[in-house]
Amino acid sequence: MPNAKKKSKKIEEVLLRKRESIWKKATKKDIDTFFKYAEGYKDFMKAAKTERETVAKVVELARTNGFREISEFKQIKPGDRFYEVNKDKMIILGVAGKKSIDEGLNIITAHLDSPRLDLKQLPLYEDGETEIALFKTHYYGGIKKYHWVAFPLAIHGVVYTKDGKKVSIEIGEKAGDPVFIIPDLLPHLARNVQGERKLFDGIKGEELNIIVGSIPVQDEDVKQKVKVAVLDYLNKNYGIVEEDFVSAELEAVPAVAPMDSGFDRSFVLAYGQDDRVCVYTALTALMELEKPDKWCLAVFYDKEEIGSAGNTSATSYFFENFVANLCMMCTEQHCGCDVKSVLERSKALSGDVDAGVDPTYKEVHDLNNAAKMGYGIVVTKYTGVGGKYSANDAHAEYMGKVRQIFNKAGVAWQSAELGKVDEGGGGTVAKYLAMYNMDIVDCGPAVLSMHAPLEITSKADLYHTHLAYLAFYENMD
Ligand code: MN
Ligand code: MN
Repeated sequence: MPNAKKKSKKIEEVLLRKRESIWKKATKKDIDTFFKYAEGYKDFMKAAKTERETVAKVVELARTNGFREISEFKQIKPGDRFYEVNKDKMIILGVAGKKSIDEGLNIITAHLDSPRLDLKQLPLYEDGETEIALFKTHYYGGIKKYHWVAFPLAIHGVVYTKDGKKVSIEIGEKAGDPVFIIPDLLPHLARNVQGERKLFDGIKGEELNIIVGSIPVQDEDVKQKVKVAVLDYLNKNYGIVEEDFVSAELEAVPAVAPMDSGFDRSFVLAYGQDDRVCVYTALTALMELEKPDKWCLAVFYDKEEIGSAGNTSATSYFFENFVANLCMMCTEQHCGCDVKSVLERSKALSGDVDAGVDPTYKEVHDLNNAAKMGYGIVVTKYTGVGGKYSANDAHAEYMGKVRQIFNKAGVAWQSAELGKVDEGGGGTVAKYLAMYNMDIVDCGPAVLSMHAPLEITSKADLYHTHLAYLAFYENMD
């Protein structure tokens, strides 16, 4: 009996897929490494609260790491580090490889837009009875609207004046700045108005109105005294008039800096981790490359949260044109390559977050196929809704390659899908790159409270996502 028992124990060891938390065997040194990496991440997230700010921060980090605008190059040689920005909202960065570009690129994508409240094009109004001035908003991306009330907000963005002058606004972040709020109804009086509503519609879109002021101008001849006072403030401080809002993009985002969470500080709490966590982990992996074998790109898209439409999204030709341009800039060495075959031979990871299992709501997951916090980067073979509808379903062959690379590099990874069958679902940009016939699979860290004003990631997962992306760049052939 003892022998037979020993034998089945051995069989179990060999045959069973091992799943365990990274923390379980992490050494003091490992934990120091994860925590140090998370500090850099939090600094990045602090400065990257909108798509424009994320692009600016990516450019800043890239330039200090030797990347230059593609227009600064006449020709691109192995080891060259280059980038191009599209309309301040999308960016592609790359490192030229030793092999011909003709052999295809190793690409990691991520999206740098996050759910938020956009100000409407004419946002400012004054409520006649209460004499309070407010901004009307139109939410961006899939939010639970009730998350955004009674929560401090900052306003970030740009305004173009009638003369075409660009004015940047960021208010609510610095110490001493005022912040903004959408008040919620007190529970004492909410029974009839809100009590019967379903949770998802507990707050309606047109109720997401941000208070901006209550001190009127002291002039009996003026009708909307508080509105005019707010306009006067904006004019004195930013030089804008009401019509300028029409050529503005102002976004209300949580006025909260990234923080550690938990007694053990194992989690990062921050706004916009979907999907700037993949932007940062991919960017830091790309910056670590010196002269990779393959040409490596990081492609950071905008507009993923609203369905990847528009010229800064994953359905824009900007990416394809960029690669075509690269092909021309290396023609002396690699004559004859064309963009179609380069893209067809490329391999990609679609860096995007997956849902971590929330201990309070486990029932939405099939736990054997769900992502756990602290268990490493999540490989999501397919996304989609109900019967994999509209999914990019990566091929077994490609899953095999990715898995081999991660295992060889000692990356902690897990396989998961977004919730139980027919529970819900979602999509990513993967399907748009798959159109080029390139292989691509979704792959990113798990997040708790996804799309809430503050999202949660595990510091161990952050670091292993970075490791996974680096291993992909270096070893995918
Ligand atoms: Mn995402
Ligand atoms: Mn999302």
